This record gives sequence, C-alpha cells and structure tokens, in this order.
Amino acid sequence: MKTGILNSNYQLLAESYLFSQIAEKVSRFQTAHSQTRIIRLGIGDVTRPIVPTVIDAMHRAVDEMASSETFRGYGPEQGYLFLREAIAQGEYAPRGVELSPDEIFVSDGSKCDVANFQELFSDRVRIAIPDPVYPVYLDSNVMAGRAGALQSDGHYDNIVYLSANAENDFQLDPPHCPVALIYLCSPNNPTGTVLSRETLTRFVRYAQENGAIILFDAAYANYIQDDALVHTIYEIEGAKECAVEFRSFSKSAGFTGVRCAFTVVPRQMEMLRKMWLRRQTTKFNGVNYIVQRGAAAVYSPEGAAETREVIASYMRNAALIRESLQACGATVYGGKDAPYIWWKLPRETDSFQFFDTLLENCAVVGTPGGGFGPQGKHYFRLTAFGDPARTKLAMERIAAQKKILF
Ligand code: PLP
Repeated sequence: MKTGILNSNYQLLAESYLFSQIAEKVSRFQTAHSQTRIIRLGIGDVTRPIVPTVIDAMHRAVDEMASSETFRGYGPEQGYLFLREAIAQGEYAPRGVELSPDEIFVSDGSKCDVANFQELFSDRVRIAIPDPVYPVYLDSNVMAGRAGALQSDGHYDNIVYLSANAENDFQLDPPHCPVALIYLCSPNNPTGTVLSRETLTRFVRYAQENGAIILFDAAYANYIQDDALVHTIYEIEGAKECAVEFRSFSKSAGFTGVRCAFTVVPRQMEMLRKMWLRRQTTKFNGVNYIVQRGAAAVYSPEGAAETREVIASYMRNAALIRESLQACGATVYGGKDAPYIWWKLPRETDSFQFFDTLLENCAVVGTPGGGFGPQGKHYFRLTAFGDPARTKLAMERIAAQKKILF
C-alpha cells in the first residue's frame, strides 16, 4: 500500500492509546504472577449491574420487538421523543434549565460525540484543551490535523493548553489569546475536581467576547454531591449562546456496555444545531429502541432512586480511597463530587514509574496521570468504580507499603 494515500495526521498521535498500554503491562504481570489477584482501580469502567427498573423497561421493549404491532425498525436519528422529553424534564428542569427535545441529540456514547463534534469546524480553528484531561478531545483534533507537531514537552504546538494543578486549585483560566473552540470537562476526568460557578462564568464571558464555542463534557455530572455546584453549563447565564453539552448514561446508570448518551445543542446556536442534525442524520442511524426505553426509565421515580443508590455506593468507595491515602500522608484531590481520586505523588515521582511500583508491590492497577497530559506527570488516578470489598483490600495493600509509596 502507498503510505501517501493515508491520513498522515495519524502519525502525529502520541504513541498508542493510554489504556491499551496499561492493559498490556497488566496482562504481562498477571502471566508472571498467576496466583496473585490483581485489583483494578485503573480504567474508568463501572462494575455494578444496571438497576432493576431499567432492566424491566428493556425487557418490555424486547417483548415489543416480538410482535408485528409493536415492532420498531429504524428510529429517529435524533432519538425517540419519549427519551428526549424525559431528559429535558429529568435532567435539566430540576436545575432550572428549560430545554426543548429538538435541542437534545441521543447517541450511542459521549466518546463518539466529543470526538465527532470537531468535524463541524474549520481545519484551521485554534482550540484550547485542559491539561490534564480525557485524551479524546486532543486525539480527535490531532487526527483532524489541527494540533500541529508534538513537542518534546508532550504538548502540540497549535493547541492552547489550560493548566489544571494544585497551584490553581484546578480552576482553569480562560485562554490568554483568541481561540475558537474550548473543551471543558467538569467534573473532570482524571482530576475528579469540579469547575466552580465563577470559573465557568469566566469561560462563558470569554466565549461571548471572542465568539468562541465551549464544548462542555459533563459525563460525571450525576456524581456531584454538592447541590450548590454547577451540574450543567446552562446554569450559567449566556451559556446557551456559546456552549454545547455532552452527557452520558455510561457512568450515571451503568450503560458503559449498553451504550447511550446525548448531546445538547441549544436553539440559540441554530446554525450549529442544524449542522449537527445534518451530520447525525447522514452518518448515524440512531440508538436502538430497547436501550432508549432503558435510558428513559432512569428518570422514573424508581429508576432515579435506584441509580442514585448505585452512585452513592461508588462515592463511598471514593471516600474510602481518599481518606485511606490521606491517613498515609498523601495529598489527594477529587473524590468528593466525582468518582476519581487524583493522588499527588511524593518527591515528583514519575507517574508511569509509579504505575509499575504499585503493580509490582501491591498488585493494584491505577492510571498514570502523565497519560492525561504533561501536567499529570506527577499525579496518579484511582477510580471508585470497583467492588467495595476489593477497594478496601487495595487500600490495605497500599497502606502496608507505606514506606515505598508515600
Ligand atoms: N467523557 C468523559 C470525560 C469520560 O471520562 C468518558 C468515559 O470514560 C466519556 C466521555 C465516554 O463516555 P461514553 O461511554 O458515553 O462514550
């Protein structure tokens, strides 16, 4: 094959994807230590089953497929109205945000939505991305040719990075130069921290003044415990004119395998809304009916109570991780309004080296902060999605290695 026919931007991507590198190391360790039970607090996948009310709704939808009167084929590309109405009423109305169903686009995942949305913008726009953050924003723009070359410090030269670290209390500053697109992630993966109302207001003002668009990923919004914190960017005045919001049922309702999410493009950005509609109707054929019935049941009173309890159980793990590490003298962030704990490593330890140390000494898997951006290189991410007993065991193993790890 002639390499000239390929998209050369893919050559600019930084090595292989973070999680596949980790999976390889873990699998090598397991082969070498077949008797050891590894505890995985690394990849952000959920472990608790989908709640009974949602499962019942999906079962009923399966039965509908078995009869010619109720069978469904292709559904609306934007999602069934019953689900878009349930989202508007269940997710946004309680936060005082009014949305109409035609501003909501149901999809099979936020990963594809956040990766695909950049298609609507010119190749030449400048973008700002937090550092550290979920890697998909950056990689999808590298693939599209917007990032420029990878520098030795791990940054791409056309990207404006927004640093999040202990020094600024993880409250990003808006860019100091004009950019057209700004990705924000709150609650943040990987730091587990939440952008304050003041910070978000500054970003919305920046967007208004510079004609920029904010791409706001709130995949973990339902983990926010503090009711005073912003759950949706549309709680900020003026955000409907400049912000697109991505939400997912993956972490809020255990849909990582089932697949369902949604993106909000308000009517105030009509051109963009129509473009996303055109994009989705051209390249996407909708989420299956059974899954959408399940997602709608998340907003029934029983479904909501059951999913809240699952989230509460993960947040008990988060508290346990945070408090156990603190008791050993560690500095940790997050874990209060998000299922991620961001561990500041002692003595500026390299996060990839620390990954190996933790695996070898405790058989515990976490995620090196450096995989989320250069600002994460001395941090380590642990997730609260594990089984409670195994999470407790992991923390005991870590505490037992206090001399090496802290
Ligand atoms: N956005 C963030 C910040 C995430 O951490 C994840 C998954 O880990 C996603 C989006 C992807 O969600 P989905 O499962 O809906 O594709």
